[in-house]
Amino acid sequence: MKNKSAIVLLSGGQDSTTALFWAKKNFQKIEAISFDYGQRHKIELKAAKKIAKIAKVKHKIIRIKEFEQIKNSALLDKKLDIKKKHKLDRKLPFTFVPGRNILFLAIAGSYAWTKRIKNIIIGVSEVDYSGYPDCRKNFINAFEKSLCLGLDYKIKIHTPLINKTKKQIVLLAKKMGVLNLMKYTHTCYNGNKIPCGVCQACKLRAKGFKNAGIADPLK
Ligand code: ZN
Repeated sequence: MKNKSAIVLLSGGQDSTTALFWAKKNFQKIEAISFDYGQRHKIELKAAKKIAKIAKVKHKIIRIKEFEQIKNSALLDKKLDIKKKHKLDRKLPFTFVPGRNILFLAIAGSYAWTKRIKNIIIGVSEVDYSGYPDCRKNFINAFEKSLCLGLDYKIKIHTPLINKTKKQIVLLAKKMGVLNLMKYTHTCYNGNKIPCGVCQACKLRAKGFKNAGIADPLK
């Protein structure tokens, strides 16, 4: 893979940051893209910008307006409660943004095709996660196939964290020597720079560091 180029979906969080550095180790040329999709906290985009700068990779923030008109997620609408179950599907938390990774990967595919890049990296895990269906391996595999068919172009979607627990993701960052950079990542659904400790994202982050026996550099 060393002689190939790749696009990394960088949200500014711990997982996508770890995936970015994994990509840097495994591909020759990396670009990162982030999405301004109307999320309630823009702090994560600032984090993504900073991390891309430190990683010395080209970074693009793509603005998409679709979700702003739909507003059915607590990550898009400040009036909705992030702690509650989704009112339309009780299996999911209210933070679920339906179709988010579908849209992100479609745009990444379009960008990849335009730049003649054949690899996309996304830092999803189906082990310690919020249950979002678009973070699962079966979705990624099916969507990779859809992109290849829809673009008539061979694209591979890499998911280096898919089978990793939060603990293993922390240990991978440590192994790659980028643990300290986790202090620039953003996790909290409440928009707090220092993890609030009560939202689902902060709980998962805390669990990973605790199980790895490592202090979160953000704290
Ligand atoms: Zn939080």
